[in-house]
Amino acid sequence: MSTLALITGANKGIGFEVARQLGATGIIVLIGARGQGRADAAVTALKKDGINAHAVEIDVGSEDSVIAAAQKIASDHGRIDILVNNAGIMTEMAAGTRPKDLTLETLKQTFDTNVFGAFTVIKHFVPLLKKSRAPRIINVSSTLGSLCTMSDSSHPMHGVNFAAYNASKTALNALTVALAKDLAADRISVNSICPGWVKTDMGGESAPRNVTQGAGIIVTLATSGNPPTGTFIDENGTVAW
Ligand code: NAP
Repeated sequence: MSTLALITGANKGIGFEVARQLGATGIIVLIGARGQGRADAAVTALKKDGINAHAVEIDVGSEDSVIAAAQKIASDHGRIDILVNNAGIMTEMAAGTRPKDLTLETLKQTFDTNVFGAFTVIKHFVPLLKKSRAPRIINVSSTLGSLCTMSDSSHPMHGVNFAAYNASKTALNALTVALAKDLAADRISVNSICPGWVKTDMGGESAPRNVTQGAGIIVTLATSGNPPTGTFIDENGTVAW
């Protein structure tokens, strides 16, 4: 029986590369994107590499869209084995916004996608994960969401002081811990990962890592025979909460 992975925000950046790497191992990849056209374009590109990819329209900011995606996947495939909550936004870097100048609207928009969006996807896909023999949820977080990093003046990321984005990833990590404890009874592992600072539309041109490197820890966790649960990790091991 083939393994099925749903990746949100898989039309570009780290999500697309995760789909490419997972697909190359023979996993069937469900390409989540907001907008059928974006999902279709990614599927077309992946199919050229011989990957078994299927488009799924899913806007994580819309519960109706998430429910419709879950219903379509239930009808087409009956289950999923791997959920990668990758969709995310960070508008403060582009805007150069300091915490004191942050608007409530930006804070809410960031949480809508990075926290409430991820939660909504988990909520509506747990029934499909329960049908898997080795179900797992991977939340794409960031070291910027680590309270230890934020408060350690000697850490190289200490100066990256984006209140909305960083707080959203802290909240996502809290969901990881709570859901890992609760979903252990259903054998579903739940972990947060950090891909490092990666050259994408979000990460920008100055980022030192490429998408191949950024996707690595997600693919490792997605394909591990015995994944941990309730952890926050990057390619070097444990990240302090
Ligand atoms: P990216 O290139 O900007 O891609 C973000 C993806 O998320 C896009 O596919 C985007 O879709 C999608 N997305 C945003 N809002 C969405 C929504 N409401 N519904 C569905 N999809 C949505 O960024 P990236 O660097 O690959 O980031 C991927 C993940 O890694 C994010 O969670 C980010 O926080 C995390 N991360 C990135 C870095 C880094 O250095 N790049 C570091 C740490 C963590 P559209 O194309 O439609 O906008």
